Amino acid sequence: MKAQDTSELFFDNVKVPKENLLGEEGAGFKIMMKELARERLIVALNAIGGAEGAIEKTIEYTTTRTAFKQPIAKFQNTQFKLAECATQLQVHQAFLDRCTLLLADNKLTAESASMAKYSATEMHNKVVDECLQLFGGYGYMWDYPIARMYADNRVARIYAGTNEIMKVLIARGLFKELFQEMKKAKRNQ
Ligand SMILES: Cc1cc2nc3c(=O)[nH]c(=O)nc-3n(C[C@H](O)[C@H](O)[C@H](O)COP(=O)(O)OP(=O)(O)OC[C@H]3O[C@@H](n4cnc5c(N)ncnc54)[C@H](O)[C@@H]3O)c2cc1C
Repeated sequence: MKAQDTSELFFDNVKVPKENLLGEEGAGFKIMMKELARERLIVALNAIGGAEGAIEKTIEYTTTRTAFKQPIAKFQNTQFKLAECATQLQVHQAFLDRCTLLLADNKLTAESASMAKYSATEMHNKVVDECLQLFGGYGYMWDYPIARMYADNRVARIYAGTNEIMKVLIARGLFKELFQEMKKAKRNQ
């Protein structure tokens, strides 16, 4: 992600020829909304792959790096940290497998997609952070993949809807009537 030139784009006074119109005029937001659950699941699946890669790289590194005359993988702290990371990865993988089946069946709800995106990206950030710690000072150098993973995965808690917004969507499913009342009250203002 850091390799890409992220910038804001403005389309003021841009004219699009009629024949280039995709879908119905004015229905763009509705069309985009239909794809949000899929997009959020893709971001969550990407987090699973990222966490898996970080764990693999860290196992590799900790078995070769020595401190106090032994590979750092021999310290129980290293083993426990990676055991925790691997467990979180498996737990999320199981939930995402379920979400993927629901999506294939056209039954993935906004709430489940939000839970997947929010929880998997938080897990990914935590796993990479724990892994980076096991790299010590090298974890802070661009030469090492874990430093790049740390910088790159941070954005996943922001794009495709921030994780705070994911929680709003999940809460909306939990407090349906309350949100409907709030919507009505806003309309009547
Ligand atoms: C690398 C990158 C790629 C992107 N790619 C795309 C793309 O392809 N297509 C696209 O459409 N967008 C894309 N985005 C935009 C991205 O989806 C938005 O940045 C994101 O949704 C957050 O919106 P914002 O930046 O306006 O933040 P803001 O809405 O200004 O939010 C700022 C903070 O306030 C919090 N906040 C806002 N509203 C609430 C609320 N109701 N309750 C609680 N907290 C709240 C947010 O969670 C956040 O912490 C991309 C962004 C990045 C950085």
